[in-house]
Amino acid sequence: MPLKEQNYWLTTADFPHTESSPLPARVDVAIIGAGFTGLSAARTLAQRGAKVAVLEAETIGWGASSRNGGMVLTGLKLGADQLISMYGHELARRMYTASIETIDCVEQIIREETIDCGFSRCGHLEVACKQKHFDDYARQAEVIAREFNHHLRVVQKQELHAEIGSNIYFGGMVDEASAGLNPARYVAGLGRAAMKAGAEIFEHARVEGLQRESSQGKAGWKVTTSRGTLWAREVFVATSGYTGKATPALQKKLIPIGSFIITTQPLPEALARELSPRNRMIYDSKNYLYYYRLTPDRRMLFGGRAAFFPENDQTIRRSAEILRRGMIDVYPQLRDSKVEYVWGGTLDFAFDIMPHAGQIDGMHYAVGYAGHGVAMATYQGQKMAELISGDKQENPFVGIPFPGAPLGLYNGKPWFLPFAGVWYKFLDWVS
Ligand SMILES: Cc1cc2nc3c(=O)[nH]c(=O)nc-3n(C[C@H](O)[C@H](O)[C@H](O)COP(=O)(O)OP(=O)(O)OC[C@H]3O[C@@H](n4cnc5c(N)ncnc54)[C@H](O)[C@@H]3O)c2cc1C
Repeated sequence: MPLKEQNYWLTTADFPHTESSPLPARVDVAIIGAGFTGLSAARTLAQRGAKVAVLEAETIGWGASSRNGGMVLTGLKLGADQLISMYGHELARRMYTASIETIDCVEQIIREETIDCGFSRCGHLEVACKQKHFDDYARQAEVIAREFNHHLRVVQKQELHAEIGSNIYFGGMVDEASAGLNPARYVAGLGRAAMKAGAEIFEHARVEGLQRESSQGKAGWKVTTSRGTLWAREVFVATSGYTGKATPALQKKLIPIGSFIITTQPLPEALARELSPRNRMIYDSKNYLYYYRLTPDRRMLFGGRAAFFPENDQTIRRSAEILRRGMIDVYPQLRDSKVEYVWGGTLDFAFDIMPHAGQIDGMHYAVGYAGHGVAMATYQGQKMAELISGDKQENPFVGIPFPGAPLGLYNGKPWFLPFAGVWYKFLDWVS
């Protein structure tokens, strides 16, 4: 099969039909974005009796939620030491504990809604690209066990063949709590679950303007979309890496970064088992990292930041070759396997590389997943929905400082990405 510039996951999923009727005049909550964050919030809000409209510029799951690696990961992008030094022991502990709960949250929704998305608690494996990265694993595992009571297993180089069929790494670290799933099937299932609970989803309804406006004596928002206008008491912004000019204050706090994925043709069973004997979700220890896994039909799915810029025809095409070379460096056994699909998507990074949730300009939001969004976005959608419907609940990511660009040198257009790309490659070389 010739290479297709297409998201492989989409070939495996059916998406629900959404509202074709005009937008309602009034809702309790307008949610912008129909990915994991928006749909998880819509489900919870609707279950609690709120009238909810999800406004999606494209189609359900069109953003990162259908395009990702399907790795349902514990932990945050920042290491344990950094978390503790930024937030102190107590808050760092609550954040780390929440990151473990995010996996339970995904598992529970999948079970309650019987979403057929191949969810499996297969664990993740981080592999060390340098000896000093591996030396750091033992220390990190010790800090995480002591501070957060969570146990990771350090794997010495000589035992690594039981985890991965590659000889290039210096050792690894396993977290059995992480999981894997098919993200397109999962986001389609979340969409169905939100609709079943009573939320209405409007596709091709790009939010173009948000204006404060009272209606029937209640404060709220006039929401202007490409499909018409509605009034909402509350607005929840769930646009992640695709946050745009409708919410400029949030856009300025987020850096959109491209990530790209290839998948091979389906592999023979014995070869697939040799590459990943325990079927883990795998990623390496670099800043400019690779992440990879087998798909349920035994393709090698191999991703990375082959270009730092968000996806377009050029970056996607270039990524196919860059990622194929990266994959063969890791797995020379795949030299003759055909790459059948390549696609890209956009991640959202905050300047402190942390998830953030709360209110900005009077609107609710949850963003900043930095490549850990499958579990965290689902969880934040649910938690923010509980908060919006009046619950006092524990969400350690609400209200933490949300830094903007240093010296305010950013208006939402990431002019510095080429420099950031070079900088991260330099860091990988020296650290
Ligand atoms: C290639 C890739 C691989 C990844 N791999 C992993 C992984 O393996 N594990 C992991 O945990 N995370 C991974 N991630 C990150 C994860 O996919 C995201 O963090 C997560 O999907 C974010 O979900 P979301 O609902 O917040 O945003 P999205 O799914 O990006 O949805 C945002 C939606 O908002 C819509 N939108 C934007 N502006 C407007 C507007 N004005 N009006 C209406 N709608 C609007 C967009 O059309 C989009 O559909 C990956 C991301 C990418 C791109």
